Amino acid sequence: AVTDPHAGSAAEIAFEGALRPSTLDEFVGQSKVRGQLKLLLTAATLQGRTPDHILLAGPPGLGKTTLSMIVAEETGKPLRMSSGPAIQHSGDLAAVLSSLTPGEVLFIDEIHRMARSAEEMLYLAMEDFRIDIMVGKGAGATSVPLELSPFTLVGATTRSGLLPNPLRDRFGFTAHLEFYATEELEQVVARAAALLGVDLASDGVHEIASRSRGTPRIANRLLRRVRDFALVHSERADISAVRGALELYDVDERGLDRLDRAVMETLLTRFAGGPVGLGTLSMSVGEEPETVESVVEPFLVRAGLIARTPRGRIATAEAWRHFGMAQPSS
Ligand code: ADP
Repeated sequence: AVTDPHAGSAAEIAFEGALRPSTLDEFVGQSKVRGQLKLLLTAATLQGRTPDHILLAGPPGLGKTTLSMIVAEETGKPLRMSSGPAIQHSGDLAAVLSSLTPGEVLFIDEIHRMARSAEEMLYLAMEDFRIDIMVGKGAGATSVPLELSPFTLVGATTRSGLLPNPLRDRFGFTAHLEFYATEELEQVVARAAALLGVDLASDGVHEIASRSRGTPRIANRLLRRVRDFALVHSERADISAVRGALELYDVDERGLDRLDRAVMETLLTRFAGGPVGLGTLSMSVGEEPETVESVVEPFLVRAGLIARTPRGRIATAEAWRHFGMAQPSS
């Protein structure tokens, strides 16, 4: 299962909620996805119909939940939130679907983890706004059709490759969210600092942005740590508070956190830079392969520290340099 190692406590989640942009215009970065969504939503409004189903794919913390809220906000409809792990039987899904009001936006996080039986029910619901409910058992069982209100499904997944094709094909639009550029994260941090009343100069904003793994959730978390650090040390929230907080929380100059480094160090020292298979690598650091593959690896690949080859994962020359180790000559 994917557990987001960066997900936090209830307090962190409440804090996150307070910083969520509520319109597409406030949503920083992802300009392509934003433009595509805007077109889709506007066209649906002009034609007076519910927007097509939307699939959002990408690593945790890049804004999938936020975008689902924005879709509801922009269409002026209520939002129902559910998740794949909460849908373990088709009955769980039937209960949700049959209670949707017209035009409601249904968000299913981690949709790739939904039960198979529910998946099949979802196909029909997405296509015809109808489900078949089985009544009775054994030879006397009959299926009773049930009409649903038209709705827009927003599915989120850390890896769209994990979705069965028939499900993937039923989304009118798939958006692949990318890691954010430092300049975009600077906007995220500056916006959050203003909302929190933290007076942070631009060098501090830049430092946080460049160490946030390309991820708005992490940028906001680091900002909160910096605010705490400044408060506790009765300092201004300036660059030295930023550096102090980052050091305390084990974030290195490139934004690698403890798990990122554990994966890299294992790859470099135990496996001499690879190639090594994902399963072996995950086991060595004590993490689920799915977490390493969908949370850790995408960032390390983007940072140019590891490469995927048909024979397994290998460390790049840049990785040896970053960790200050000599690359063995092969
Ligand atoms: P996901 O569902 O992909 O894990 P979320 O939508 O929960 O990510 O986003 C995590 C946090 O990051 C939220 O607090 C949100 O405010 C912030 N965030 C995400 N994307 C953006 C963005 N483009 N602009 C501003 N803040 C963002």
